[in-house]
Amino acid sequence: MEHGRPGALGNRPRVVSTVNCVLSIHGMNENILLVEDEQALRMVLGDRLLNEGYAVDFACDGVTGFQKAISVRFDLIILDILLPGRNGFDLCRDLRLAGIEVPILILTGRDTTTDKIVGLKLGADDYITKPFDMQELVARIEALLRRGSVLPGKVVYASGPITVDFSAMEVKKAGVSVRLSALEFRLLRYLLRRRGVGLSREKILQDVWGYDGVTHSRTLDVHIAGLRQKLESNPSQPRLIVTVPGLGYRYEG
Ligand code: CA
Repeated sequence: MEHGRPGALGNRPRVVSTVNCVLSIHGMNENILLVEDEQALRMVLGDRLLNEGYAVDFACDGVTGFQKAISVRFDLIILDILLPGRNGFDLCRDLRLAGIEVPILILTGRDTTTDKIVGLKLGADDYITKPFDMQELVARIEALLRRGSVLPGKVVYASGPITVDFSAMEVKKAGVSVRLSALEFRLLRYLLRRRGVGLSREKILQDVWGYDGVTHSRTLDVHIAGLRQKLESNPSQPRLIVTVPGLGYRYEG
C-alpha cells in the first residue's frame, strides 16, 4: 500500500496576519481532504491545492478516508472512485448516511455517464473525469466551496476601506460596491490569500492564468491596472497592490 507524503499531513500554508485584517470563521484556509491512492496524483494535486491557499490532508485508501472524514471537519472532500479498502461510491454513500454534509467532488477514471450518475445519486456534489485539467478542477473546487460556505461563517476580508466577501464574490470600497470582472476577482483573491508576500510575475501568470513564462506580461499589467483603478485611493500611487521592483507585485492590505 502507498503511504502519504511525509510531512504533507497538516502542512498548512502560512497565513500572514495584518493589522486591521479581519477573517471570519472559515478563515482563508479551507480544509480539503484528498482521498486518492495514486501517489503521483496526490502529490501534484496536493501541491496545487496548497499553492492555492488551501490546507490539505490526505488518505490513500477508502477506510482511512472514511475515518478521517468523520473525525475531522473538512470544507471539501475530493474522492477517487477506485480505491483499496472501500471504493469511492461506497465511501460517498456511507458518509452521507453518517450525516456528513461536506461537499464531495468525485475524481473518476471512468467516464461513462452511468458512473457519473451513480456518484451523484449517492450524494456527491460534482465529479471530474481523469485525466482532468487542473484549472478546471480548481474552478470546480472554488464553486463547491462557495456553495458550502453559505453555511455559518461567511469568508470576509476587511482592511481599511476595502471589504471582500468571498462567498458572494462581492467587493466594496468605503461601503460602495465595486464591480470587478471575473478575472479581476480571481486575481484579487489570489493576491489577498498571499498578502504581504512578494510574488513574481511568472508565478502570478502561472497560477492565475496557467501561462508559462512572461510572454503574457501585458495581460497581467492590464488586470493589475484595472484593480488599482477600482480599489486604490490614488491609482497612480498604489498602496494596496504595490509593485515589487525586479519581481512583480505584493498586496499590502
Ligand atoms: Ca484510484
